[in-house]
Amino acid sequence: MGKADLHTHTTASDGAYNPDELLRRAREKKLKTLSITDHDTIKGYLKAKDSAREMGIELLPGVEVSAVWGEREVHILVYCFDEENAEFVQMLRNQKHARVKRMQKIVEKLQSQGLDISMDEVRAEAGVGNIGRPHAASVLIDKGYVASIAEAFIRYLSSEKLEQIQTEYITVEELIRISKHAGGVLSLAHPGPLYTQDEIQQLISLGIDGLECIHPSHNFNLQRTFTKLASEEKLLVTGGSDFHGKGKKDYDPYFGIVTLGEQHVFSLKRMARRRRELIN
Ligand code: AMP
Ligand code: ZN
Ligand code: FE
Ligand code: FE
Repeated sequence: MGKADLHTHTTASDGAYNPDELLRRAREKKLKTLSITDHDTIKGYLKAKDSAREMGIELLPGVEVSAVWGEREVHILVYCFDEENAEFVQMLRNQKHARVKRMQKIVEKLQSQGLDISMDEVRAEAGVGNIGRPHAASVLIDKGYVASIAEAFIRYLSSEKLEQIQTEYITVEELIRISKHAGGVLSLAHPGPLYTQDEIQQLISLGIDGLECIHPSHNFNLQRTFTKLASEEKLLVTGGSDFHGKGKKDYDPYFGIVTLGEQHVFSLKRMARRRRELIN
């Protein structure tokens, strides 16, 4: 049975490994199918396409989008979209700007708390990657304010700590519309610890196609609950390790271990094919 990992990150967002390094590791773990789902960017995926083909790894187009749902921020995985769809590409460009603007506000807030941190330092940490809170966390570690990324989130960067900072991310509704127009298939990322059953039902009713049932944050019970729900609601089952490389130690050991069975990959591709046929 071919193993798949449909949730990974590279240096194009907050991952530690560049696309080629990630592919090498995927081959070591004998993954048949991989999706690079960087935060709000497909640059890592685009870089990896040729190498993946040469290595015989099936690489599905993917991206993990941060979207706004009421007061909440929701992560939605989009797969198998047309990567040249103008509206989709523009959406990702807007998301990138929204990230920069949000980080400027975060940096100002940290400065107002007396911390010595600048936007340039966070940008330098992000390098070629789409900027995100883990990059700010790394600066805080380098400066000795915190000892770990986890501590940085607990003390300064969690959604609760940043509650009053508004983001300009796309709404879930708009993301679903644009993604489906681009032939994409959507799955609610790591729903486990984040939402009530009722909230999940509401998100499903907006038109999300699948649930990320398999994720390192889900214990066996949660995995079973979500898989059952997906089957009842005729939703796709997706899953992956959320591998970030050294950036997020908690999940990293699960690369190659938390994987998705190939029957779910077939279902995903089938839905994507049908959607493309309807568009064209
Ligand atoms: P952002 O993209 O700026 O919203 O940051 C979200 C990313 O930060 C997630 O994808 C994780 O990689 C990381 N992250 C979120 N919460 C934590 C945490 N408590 N500890 C470590 N990393 C975290
Ligand atoms: Zn991340
Ligand atoms: Fe996420
Ligand atoms: Fe992720």
